[in-house]
This record gives sequence, C-alpha cells and structure tokens, in this order.
Amino acid sequence: MASRTSNAGDEKITCGFVRAWQLNLRCWKLWMEQVPGYFVSSLFSSVCTALTPYVTLILSAQIISELAGGRDPQRLLFWAVLTVVVTALLALLGGALRQWNGFEQGRVATERFKPLADKITTLDYAEIDRQELYDLYAQIRQNDTWRGLGFSESLRYFPDLCKAVVQILGGIGFTLTLFLTDVPADSPMAFLNNPLSMLLVLGAMVAAVLISSMCSSKSAMMMIQRAAMCREANRYANFYGVMALDDKRAADLRIYCQQEKVCRHYMDEFEAHYTRFGPLARLPRGKMGLLAGLSQAISALLTCFVYLFVCLKSWGGAFDVGSVTRYVGSATQLFGGMTLLLKTLGNIRANGEFLELTFQFLDLPNHMYQGSLTTEKRADRNYQVEFRDVSFRYPGSDSWALRHVNVKFRIGSRLAVVGPNGSGKTTFIKLLCRLYDPTEGTILLNGIDIRKYRYQDYIALFSVVFQDFRLLSLPLGENVAGSAACDRDLVERCLQDAGFGPRLKTMPKGLDTFLYKKLDKDGVEISGGEAQKIAIARALYKDAPFIVLDEPTAALDPIAEADIYSKFDSIAGDKTAIYISHRLSSCKFCDEIAVFDHGAIVQTGGHETLVADETGLYHQLWQAQAQYYTKES
Ligand code: ADP
Repeated sequence: MASRTSNAGDEKITCGFVRAWQLNLRCWKLWMEQVPGYFVSSLFSSVCTALTPYVTLILSAQIISELAGGRDPQRLLFWAVLTVVVTALLALLGGALRQWNGFEQGRVATERFKPLADKITTLDYAEIDRQELYDLYAQIRQNDTWRGLGFSESLRYFPDLCKAVVQILGGIGFTLTLFLTDVPADSPMAFLNNPLSMLLVLGAMVAAVLISSMCSSKSAMMMIQRAAMCREANRYANFYGVMALDDKRAADLRIYCQQEKVCRHYMDEFEAHYTRFGPLARLPRGKMGLLAGLSQAISALLTCFVYLFVCLKSWGGAFDVGSVTRYVGSATQLFGGMTLLLKTLGNIRANGEFLELTFQFLDLPNHMYQGSLTTEKRADRNYQVEFRDVSFRYPGSDSWALRHVNVKFRIGSRLAVVGPNGSGKTTFIKLLCRLYDPTEGTILLNGIDIRKYRYQDYIALFSVVFQDFRLLSLPLGENVAGSAACDRDLVERCLQDAGFGPRLKTMPKGLDTFLYKKLDKDGVEISGGEAQKIAIARALYKDAPFIVLDEPTAALDPIAEADIYSKFDSIAGDKTAIYISHRLSSCKFCDEIAVFDHGAIVQTGGHETLVADETGLYHQLWQAQAQYYTKES
C-alpha cells in the first residue's frame, strides 16, 4: 500500500498569485473562443443576481419608512405593488438568465476535454507512448474528475468575480450615505460622527472580511492539497470503470476472475481514503472544519456589528427606520461581495498549480522537423524510397529496434518483409511512414531526405493496414472513405476487392450500416476477419502510391489470406506494395523478400533463391512452416 501511494501525499501549492492569474486569463481566453456564450450569459446572470437584493432592499425600505412615517394608504399601495412587480420581473429575468447560463455550462462540460484531445491528435506519434505524457494527461483528467480543478474550476471564477464586483460597487454606492449622514449634534449618539469612530468601524469591517476570507481559503486549500492522493484513487477507480466496460477484456476478466482478485483489490485500497474514517473524512472534523466554521462565525459577528452601528445611528436620529433595513442589507451585500472577491482570488491562486499542468501539456512542442517541400502528385507514381544505413531506438529504450538497415524499393514492385517476432518488421514500416524519425541514418524519397517534405504531404503517400488497426463505430461507408462524404461506388468496389462483397449484401442498411453498437442500437457486430477486410478496403480507397499490409490478415484463415494476397497483386496495380506476413507462402509471389532478424536485414532476394540457401534464416522459417502445413494436411 505504502509503495502505491508513495506519490500521493499532500501537494504543496507553489504557484504564485501573479502566475496563477496569468494562467487563469489564458484559460478564459481559450474558452472565450470556444464557448463565448458562457461568458456573456455568466456576466448577465451574475449582474442580475448581484443587483436583485439591492432593488428589493430599496423598495422594502420605502414601505417600512411609509409604515413608520406618513402611513398614506395610497403611497403604501403604490410601493407594495411596485415591490411585487419589480421583484417578480427580476425573478423572471434571473431565472431565464440562469437557464441560459446552465445551457452554456452544459456545453462547457462536454467540451472541456476537447483542447486536450485536439492536442493529443496533433502530437508527434513518438510522444504518444511516452510514460511521462501519459502520467501528465492522467493527472489533468483526474484533477478535473475529482474537483473540477484546472480548466473547469477556472471557468467558475468568471461569474464569481462578476458577481463580487457588482456586489461591491452596489454596496459602496448604497452604504456611502451611512457614513456620510451625521447624527444630530445634540444626540447622545453624536460621538458616532467622530472620524475616529468611523475609522474604527470601517477598520473592524475590513479586518473581519480579511480574516473570514483567509480562514475560508485556508480551509479550502487543505482539501486541495490532498489532490495527489485523490487523483491516484480516482485513477484506479477510472481504470476499473473503463476496464469493466471493455468488451475485449470481458472474457479474460471472467476466466481469470480479474474483477475480484486484481481490480477490486486495487480499488478497495484506494477507496479506503474515502471511508468515514479515512484521511479525507478526518479533514472537516479537524482544522479544516474549524477554519470553515470560524470564517462563517466572523461573517455572522460582522452582520451583528453592522446592525448595532446602523441601529445606533438611526436611534440617534441620523435616518429613519426604513433606512435601517436598506443599510444593513447593503452592508451585508458589500461584505459578501468583498469576501467572495478575496475567496475567488485565493482559489485562483490555488488553481494555478493545476492550470500549470494543463498548459504544460497543451504547450508540448512537436519535435519532428517539418520540411516545406511538397511531394508533387505524380501521375506515374514514380516515388522511390531508400533506407540508407538506418538505425532506430524507441524513445526511452536502450536497445536498437533496427540496426544499419539498407534497402531500396523498386517502383511498382512487391516487397515482402518477413522474420521472427520482434525482429523489427513493424518498426521498419513505422519509420517508412514517418511515424518516427530514424535515430541514425536517412530515409530518402526520390533522393531527398523525407524530413524535408511537408509532413502531411509525405504521409499522404501511404496506405497502411496495421496489425492493430481500429475501425470506428460509424457507418461502414464512412469507415472505408475515412470521411462523412464518400464516393459510394468506389467504396463498394474497394469492399468487393477486399473480399467483403458477400457480407456487404447481408448488411441491413448497406454502406449506411453502423459498425458495432456503441453509437447505434441497430449497429452490426463484425468478426475479426471481416474487420480486416474493411480495413484493407479503407487502404484501397485512399489510393496512395504505397500500400502496406502489416500482418493484417492474422485473423483470416489461410484460405482467405491466400485469396486476398493473390488478388492483391492485381488490385495493387502500379502501386508499390509491401507485405508483412507470418505465413511465408503468402509472400511467394513477391519480387523481393527482405528477411529481418534482431533489427537487421539478414537476407534479401526472391523466394526461390532464398529457399535454396539452406544456411539462411528464410530456409529455416520456410521449412518450419512447410512441415506444419504438411502435418496438418
Ligand atoms: P515485429 O514487427 O518484427 O514483431 P517490432 O518492430 O514490433 O517487431 O519490434 C522490434 C523491437 O522493438 C522489439 O524488440 C520490440 O520489443 C521493440 N518495440 C516495439 N515497439 C516498441 C515501443 N513502442 N517502445 C519500445 N520498444 C518497442
């Protein structure tokens, strides 16, 4: 337990106020572009909420003054009707504005992870499996899940600040005369006119506001400092939740009783933090609760003090009894506004730490060099690629995944890449498609280093079906076209060529049939082999000059695979095709075969030549598979 929570202790809040304020403004700016309606509606709604009590106070003060003074029934009726009408109108307006704001808040809630998702999809591919990146992202998500810390929290400050400012301005405006109106000189309360007593009263009020806000901020901070611990707990809970929903794990989960023995076990440990006697529950019962209570008590004392001061002035004859309600109400609003302002500023500071993490993620640079050359669209598909002494190590890895690879693709040729597991075949393809850049050596396209081309132009040259490809829970046609707008005839042709034709006929809505049921209840579940055929059709639809199949047929039976490979030769036409397959018999027709072993190309040549070389790895692999099939047959 100790080891798992070692990084989950109290978090020190080190971000200074100025930095936190700058980050907060940056966050608002970002959101203003995304959801401007939230800011406009928050502004109107907060102003309305802050002003309503003042309007009600002024009107009710008029009624009380009338009751205590002239008692004119007509004037009383006028003020009573006006109060009811204005209060009702304000309530109506306030309600409508809150509804609008609530709708905008809903938009914010759904879009709050969009900037992060946008960032991930544009990051260098090499960054994606970096552990530090994953940790940073998980921290940001968990901070938000736990208490909305980071982006969501920052958004809440905008209405709070608007409300506080309006409340303070209104309060100052309405309470100014409280201090400026003198008690008659012959009154026993005349000492209240003395500037010193005024200063004393004002000083006591400001001090009470400061102490109350400080206690409240300190109390809130004590909870926020537990963020690291709660984040860790949430991370496990989240993992359990996501895992439980993953249909691909459902079978393993049951067979190995993982839900009880592994997942629940981890979760129970972290849930312990949230129990009645856990460290979080202890916080409100200790110093944190005391500080929060103290903050409230000081506010209450302050209200009593204001009452006393206002009543004494009224008793001394400075103003009538109706003004007592108005002054007490306005002063309470003023202190409420000041407390809210200070509390919000304190929260902004505390949240700075979490925004820092979010922006650290959003500011991650893309290291891959982006060239400016364009890969002119050539009708003759005359694109020649060469690996020149290429070596590669995965980021953070000490061992070479590829070592001194030299190979040239002949245009329009068929190249097979074979070799044992872990020999570097997929890595070779990932470098070819520039998902990674070589650690050493160069890859050239038509004699020019591929880094000098515009990235999007270069990757547009490749259609790849990876081993672990994924289809989207969207209509079949959109999956193949990779876009909502698709050329339906071409999609159908590609599906036919990939061997999906007979199955297409059984799809209830043809190309409009949703794959899987995640987004559509009438969606169709497909087998691994069918998915592979769709993925191949997607690669054909892209019509790129290079087409790569990285063992995409692993889920197909040998007959279906042989069928696809033999067809593929004609489908690929003048494209340069690269095949990776475990089944050497599938690659027999290729012009050239590159045999990989321990990250290096150990043999190249045609099938017949390689099989004949009895000392070579290809011969060994071929023999092993031939024996297997002979026995089978
Ligand atoms: P193959 O496709 O021939 O099975 P790979 O190209 O996938 O082999 O892997 C080559 C080597 O690189 C293996 O030793 C593998 O463990 C390592 N490797 C693959 N992917 C990664 C990665 N993302 N990070 C670190 N090492 C990796």
